[in-house]
Amino acid sequence: MRTAVLRLGHRVQRDQRITTHVALTARALGAEGMLLDSDDAGIERSISEVTQRWGGSFYVRRITNWKSEVKKWKEAGGKVVHLTMYGMNLPDVINEIVTDNLLIIVGAEKVPPEVYELADWNVAVGNQPHSEVAALAITLDRLNTLSGRDALKGQFTGGELNIVPSRRGKEVKSK
Ligand code: SAM
Repeated sequence: MRTAVLRLGHRVQRDQRITTHVALTARALGAEGMLLDSDDAGIERSISEVTQRWGGSFYVRRITNWKSEVKKWKEAGGKVVHLTMYGMNLPDVINEIVTDNLLIIVGAEKVPPEVYELADWNVAVGNQPHSEVAALAITLDRLNTLSGRDALKGQFTGGELNIVPSRRGKEVKSK
């Protein structure tokens, strides 16, 4: 199973912090990268600094035509999950989606209505409004658990630093 994230509706001033958190969460929980429907080079830069320091091959790619990216993903045999509070609740559909290569769409502001049509599944992490970061984290964690991939224990290859888990304080060693 491969997972990538498509971040829609990013507003350059307003959403920088939360979009960065979407990318960091995706990376930490094992997604391969994030497509960013925006020309904001700052996000790409800050995530590539994280990858340089902490390893792995997570990418952020700025895109200009999200529909063609969704179509390309589907043509390559992947499936598309749109996270929305209006969708089918995650526990009711997770067994259908767990084996596929998934492009997971999260919005910022209201997403274009075509997203609901193009997605193979519109999935709610509970049918209450909350946050794209929380929705993505729970979805990836449940997918990882069901597919037997323990992303929280996974090491990132390359990079400069490793954290040594400690009961108190901070221990970091160079690779
Ligand atoms: N007001 C916007 C709308 O009506 O579409 C949604 C804003 S919400 C803060 C931003 C994103 O968080 C949504 O596009 C969706 O991807 C995600 N999200 C929020 N609550 C969710 C839920 N309960 N389940 C799944 N995704 C959710």
